[in-house]
Amino acid sequence: MTPDIIIIGGGIAALSTAWEAIEKGYNPLVLYKKRTSSATQAAAGMLCPEIEADSAHAPLLSLAKQSQILYSNWIKNLEDVSNLPSGYHPKGTLLVAQHRDHMAEITQLQAHIAEQDFTCSRLTIKEIRQKEENLAPRLSGGIFVPKAHSIHPRMLYAMLFKATQKHIQWYQKIQIHHNEESILSISYRNDEGQEQSISSPIYVIADGAWSQEYSFLDWLPLRPVKGQYLILKGEPLISHTIRTPDVYMVPRPNGELYIGATMEEEGFCDRLRAGHQLDLLYHSWQFIRGIYELHIKEAGVGFRPALRDHQPAIGRTHLRNLWLNIGHFRHGITIAPAASKLILHHIEKPDTRDAFSPLRFWTSS
Ligand SMILES: Cc1cc2nc3c(=O)[nH]c(=O)nc-3n(C[C@H](O)[C@H](O)[C@H](O)COP(=O)(O)OP(=O)(O)OC[C@H]3O[C@@H](n4cnc5c(N)ncnc54)[C@H](O)[C@@H]3O)c2cc1C
Repeated sequence: MTPDIIIIGGGIAALSTAWEAIEKGYNPLVLYKKRTSSATQAAAGMLCPEIEADSAHAPLLSLAKQSQILYSNWIKNLEDVSNLPSGYHPKGTLLVAQHRDHMAEITQLQAHIAEQDFTCSRLTIKEIRQKEENLAPRLSGGIFVPKAHSIHPRMLYAMLFKATQKHIQWYQKIQIHHNEESILSISYRNDEGQEQSISSPIYVIADGAWSQEYSFLDWLPLRPVKGQYLILKGEPLISHTIRTPDVYMVPRPNGELYIGATMEEEGFCDRLRAGHQLDLLYHSWQFIRGIYELHIKEAGVGFRPALRDHQPAIGRTHLRNLWLNIGHFRHGITIAPAASKLILHHIEKPDTRDAFSPLRFWTSS
């Protein structure tokens, strides 16, 4: 059957768009090119718009809040359809400090969190230790954000993949034919080496930081922001996500501990740097001495898709049948349910324009 939406991409943005489209009765086709260092595979999985309350713009915070409300039903539905576990971890986040500067930063964040009507509370050192007994002896205070939960992004991705896999086609090479007004058709070579040509009334590009490669999107100020992370494995040491101003640690099933993440402007360079890995380990060891004994399971890199204003681009472009769902930067796991609803809303109401419109960057010259 001819697809009524063609989605180009393969991370959480593409697959959650496909899933929302299927839920709404469409027949999408996802054209997927395998790349290493996708952001979804690298992500920590913190679902915590609260923590971004000091830096994110109001529309993004509002989208993240909507997602927070949608999340549990969204994953319940995916769990039922895929018969896979989600790795959702409904424990809160502890933000902890070891000295005066840390504490000042956390206190300021607490004020922003309260201003945005999110819940958080100041804890005494005794209360912090009651929540996490393996924290290092030196602590100067902290706050607890009960609704800042987490999810295992690879488990979430596995569910999305299973739920949408009948609609996914891998390809090796693609050519998008277009004129000044619209996308005309797509030719691609599939994984078996066969040449295909296809068209559809609606096209969505959702391939993360790689969306900068299309000549017709050269006006989008999109760049990859590299993030290095580590996954350790051994005796479980914490049950909540622990954040400090320097590092965060997210507990995962099977004794895994995710430590993240750097923010680097290095283009698509996927090399690990010893100094950055040392920083991640050293800053987390400062708070949890037990990590010294854990094994290093994985050290990796992901490319966050970032636009100049660090807000997503969700909506129609200058080409009348082309939409984007990109630029999710540090929030793509958090905003996935709401962003996929929003892109479908824009597809169904093509003349609506809001704060996430890609056209905020459009110049015709
Ligand atoms: C270290 C790190 C930690 C993070 N932690 C969090 C967190 O705790 N919470 C949170 O909410 N967010 C987090 N993020 C951000 C989040 O991971 C991203 O915002 C999100 O994954 C972006 O998803 P995406 O699908 O747009 O891009 P990606 O996940 O990068 O996916 C892009 C996909 O498109 C495919 N592709 C590339 N080119 C093409 C092409 N030409 N055609 C077809 N397919 C193509 C690739 O194979 C890839 O699978 C983190 C990111 C990083 C790097």
